[in-house]
Amino acid sequence: MQHDWSRHVRFLAFGLAVAAGLGLYLGQLLPALLVALALYLSWTLVQLRRLSRWLGHAGLSADAPHSVGLWGELFDRLHRQERVHQQIEDRLRARIHRVQESTNAMLDGVVMTDSHGKMEWWNDAAEYLLGFRRGTDRGQIVHNLIRTPAFKAYFDARDYREPLQIRSPARPHLRLQVQISLFGDDDRLIVAKDVTRLFQLEQMRRDFVGNVSHEMRTPLTVISGYLETMSDNSDQLPAKWRRAIDAMTGQASRMEALITDLILLSRIETGEHTLHHARINVGQMVGQIVQDARTLSGDRQHQIRLSLESDQWLRGDESELRSAFSNLVFNAVKYTPAGGEIDVSWRTDRNGGYLTVKDTGIGIDPVHIPRLTERFYRADPSRHKDTGGTGLGLAIVKHVLINHDGRLDIHSRPGEGSEFVCHFPKERLVEAGEAPAPQGTATPKSGSLPPGRQ
Ligand code: ADP
Repeated sequence: MQHDWSRHVRFLAFGLAVAAGLGLYLGQLLPALLVALALYLSWTLVQLRRLSRWLGHAGLSADAPHSVGLWGELFDRLHRQERVHQQIEDRLRARIHRVQESTNAMLDGVVMTDSHGKMEWWNDAAEYLLGFRRGTDRGQIVHNLIRTPAFKAYFDARDYREPLQIRSPARPHLRLQVQISLFGDDDRLIVAKDVTRLFQLEQMRRDFVGNVSHEMRTPLTVISGYLETMSDNSDQLPAKWRRAIDAMTGQASRMEALITDLILLSRIETGEHTLHHARINVGQMVGQIVQDARTLSGDRQHQIRLSLESDQWLRGDESELRSAFSNLVFNAVKYTPAGGEIDVSWRTDRNGGYLTVKDTGIGIDPVHIPRLTERFYRADPSRHKDTGGTGLGLAIVKHVLINHDGRLDIHSRPGEGSEFVCHFPKERLVEAGEAPAPQGTATPKSGSLPPGRQ
């Protein structure tokens, strides 16, 4: 370009020199120079007009106008640069198209929104699963279209570690698992997965366990009844039969405990017929449980202390909470050697309420803690025969807490005792009110009490 520029300047200087020579020869120097400059200006204007037309009408992609010298070089360069830009743009467009094609091929719905939930883009599966329409829904706020309150709360909470399960707004027979991720400038990527099959399987499993447990209860009641009659008349039986009947009675009561817990767990899991809105006097409830725990401790003489640091109550389901708290307190008795200490406390702060059960018992190896609330999981399987547990107690506690928007924290070390903390969110706390109707005695999961104490 530099080269063309100096050639152009030389050409202009040469033209002016010729005009000046001609002017001197004709004795008209100034007019000759003016004519030469006017000619140069007109040519430049013509080139500018061609450039403007080229840019204005056809765009740079049309063929460049032909010209000579500096202008010719300028047209060619602009044309070349435009071609390079065009190629980059084509490549980017092809890449975006490919990404969109691949997300459209996904079975999961994908939606991109800004931080306020304004929808920018979504794939075909999102149209099917969430009922969005390409023509009209762009720019709409996503929670105006997915009108489930839980979804809006999930979107606004900005805590997307766990996915959310909702019913499809477009196809109510579908269950969707929604997971949001943050990207870019506080934008959101919403992925909706169809988990209907999994949901139905889970439902079938729960129904199956519930039904089988109910069905087994009747024959077991008959067997236990006859065994009891036989035990009552055991003095008339030969000694070897007495031993057999005692063993059968023990196993029958273990099975009864197991069935009772399975039925309780499946009822809690489905949240069936349960309104979690009664006002519960926690202090009074744990007071009764502690009394029962002292009875359970019996000769082992644990020191069981109760400390009520708050007079606030809980909003929840009485029988579920009673099961959960008594399971924790009775477990402390079961897993703490004779004479050990057990502290039960209820306190509240601005984050919510805490029911803590702390013991000086055998403790739990940290490797087991994440799995303790699974059904039938035992930290020490060899020991459960002595305690007569069903292995369902902490699973019941976990589900009761889920139903009350709470969570269970476990801190423990082998040989140093354990601490179980039920944390309830502050929305679950209510001010103390009138005493609720008289409550019955504690009903832990039945297996918590060793046979003979139930
Ligand atoms: P189980 O009927 O066996 O007691 P749970 O579900 O109540 O079943 O408890 C699961 C396991 O957690 C128990 O088998 C035991 O190993 C452990 N565990 C529960 N509570 C305590 C505790 N307070 N101290 C030590 N280990 C405990």
